[in-house]
Amino acid sequence: MIRPLFACGLAIVASVAGGLLPVRNGDADAGRVAATPTPSDRPPLYRSSVVGTDFDFITDRDPSAFDALRFVALKPFEMPDKRANDRPLMKDAYVFAARYRDGTTVAIAVDAAFGSRPAAEQEASRYTLRLGRLPSLYRRHLRHIVIHEGGADTTAFAEDRGHFLVLYSGNATRRIGTHDLEETLFHEATHAAIQQQYLPRAAWKTARTRDGAFVTHYAETDEQEDFAESALFAYTLIKHPERFPVAERERIERQIPHRIDFFRTVYVD
Ligand SMILES: [Zn+2]
Repeated sequence: MIRPLFACGLAIVASVAGGLLPVRNGDADAGRVAATPTPSDRPPLYRSSVVGTDFDFITDRDPSAFDALRFVALKPFEMPDKRANDRPLMKDAYVFAARYRDGTTVAIAVDAAFGSRPAAEQEASRYTLRLGRLPSLYRRHLRHIVIHEGGADTTAFAEDRGHFLVLYSGNATRRIGTHDLEETLFHEATHAAIQQQYLPRAAWKTARTRDGAFVTHYAETDEQEDFAESALFAYTLIKHPERFPVAERERIERQIPHRIDFFRTVYVD
């Protein structure tokens, strides 16, 4: 199988409201079954959305709805960590509440390993503006983000039913360096915020069958990755079509036209 350039997938162990969720899926390296419905003569266009293209889908000059960051407490928080599943799920974290001008709030839980509240606040501040560039719809459903210290080689992941995503500060630094952190957040937040609601819908399943092709190789790994990968291309085409060179835009529109139409019904804000 094609080894994805970044693995996100769902949390292997995650719990919400005190109870452990069953393992839903390993990360993308764990040997997923290929997506089923669409044998096609047309190969995917790109390797992956985030690290397999040079497109700036979302830029750090885009407006942000961020308003203010408030410290809540240093307290135990559920901190799933795919580097070692035997680590305790509950760990001390500096917990902040990021407030947005659309009335939404996203909690940010920063690993106590950052060592002090100011250090944790500085770390949280790397994400506040970027979270404010996501669609408002995402912030309405995203409950919190978890930030672990380090993990330069550890990719982010998301939990769709718990509505949260997990980032590693070392990996985030790399993604900032390549202008990819916004796209990483969008991809993971698509899993965390809206996937559970939209993935089962007939309109989505019909769209991918009609398209008969995938936008990226990573989208081919399974339906969830197809959803998140297609979402970023569709969102950019709908909101900022000029960010694709004309020839690329036309290729994307020929490749996944029905999925793009589907996402027009999602990104209505
Ligand atoms: Zn993903």
